[in-house]
Amino acid sequence: AKEKQDGEPALYDPIMHSSLVERLALEAELRKAVADHQLQVHYQPTYVLESGELVGVEALVRWPHPERGMVQPDLFIPIAEQTGLIHEIGRFVLREACFQGQEWARMSPSTPMNIGVNVSGKQLQRRDFADEVSRALADSGLDAGSLVLEMTESVLMNDAESAMRTLKALKDTGVRIAIDDFGTGYSSLSYLHRFPVDILKIDRSFVDRLSGADAQDSLVQSIVQLGNTLQLETIAEGIEEHSQLIALRRLGCTMAQGYHFGRPAPADTVSALVMDQNAN
Ligand code: C2E
Ligand code: CA
Ligand code: CA
Ligand code: CA
Repeated sequence: AKEKQDGEPALYDPIMHSSLVERLALEAELRKAVADHQLQVHYQPTYVLESGELVGVEALVRWPHPERGMVQPDLFIPIAEQTGLIHEIGRFVLREACFQGQEWARMSPSTPMNIGVNVSGKQLQRRDFADEVSRALADSGLDAGSLVLEMTESVLMNDAESAMRTLKALKDTGVRIAIDDFGTGYSSLSYLHRFPVDILKIDRSFVDRLSGADAQDSLVQSIVQLGNTLQLETIAEGIEEHSQLIALRRLGCTMAQGYHFGRPAPADTVSALVMDQNAN
């Protein structure tokens, strides 16, 4: 298997992806994988930058394919969105993450973890999405305050009125909202005032620029300051190097996630971290 840059094996050749036949095959296989419950959820830990304390996870969907190996979400999520499969996949990830989150909460009642779940624009467009979230919380027993729904700026800007309606309904359930890949989208700051947002996730491309020969920290600094002004928490994504961690701390960013701390992994790996933290 050839290694992708991020270290997870990528057996699937993206060039083949451009062929329509190949795409149709992938779509059929995805449909089958969903029906056969083959998708899995991995979890990547999030840490408090100052203390190094484990504060949460982000749930990331995985498709272990019998011949293609691990198919990356960047490849199959777009197909899922185009075919409507995203609703079933999204519901699966949401429910799985809520039940798993509740198990961790039981293991470690004194330190509840934030459970981040990615939400596609297509899911947000559904009128019953907030009900689906309420049901997942009720069925799993997870505290609503532990659930963080991650969505990109473009998802909110695209059909802003209906997005606002759904967001308000979601906020009523007690969950929190994070803007994913912050800084890469429309960058219209006015929506941050209008939408009930709680957390900014600083995109990896900005974190990347914190290290190297032409290191540059003014963009991250602006985002952290914006977060402070609006009383939002800031999570930096994609920390790969210690020097980035040091820079982020200096800039006042509160939380971080990245290969430097830990890669996405099966739930058991995180359970071990939770028990470790409990023992200390
Ligand atoms: P994202 O939401 O921005 O998720 C972060 C991605 O960055 C993940 O890729 C994660 O494995 C990767 N990552 C984390 N730390 C590092 C690092 O230090 N360096 C590098 N190079 N990468 C890092 P992944 O799991 O392949 O997911 C890609 C995208 O697919 C996600 O980007 C998200 O947009 C989408 N996705 C994943 N799971 C779901 C899901 O359940 N539902 C929806 N709608 N989208 C999902
Ligand atoms: Ca995310
Ligand atoms: Ca992101
Ligand atoms: Ca992304």
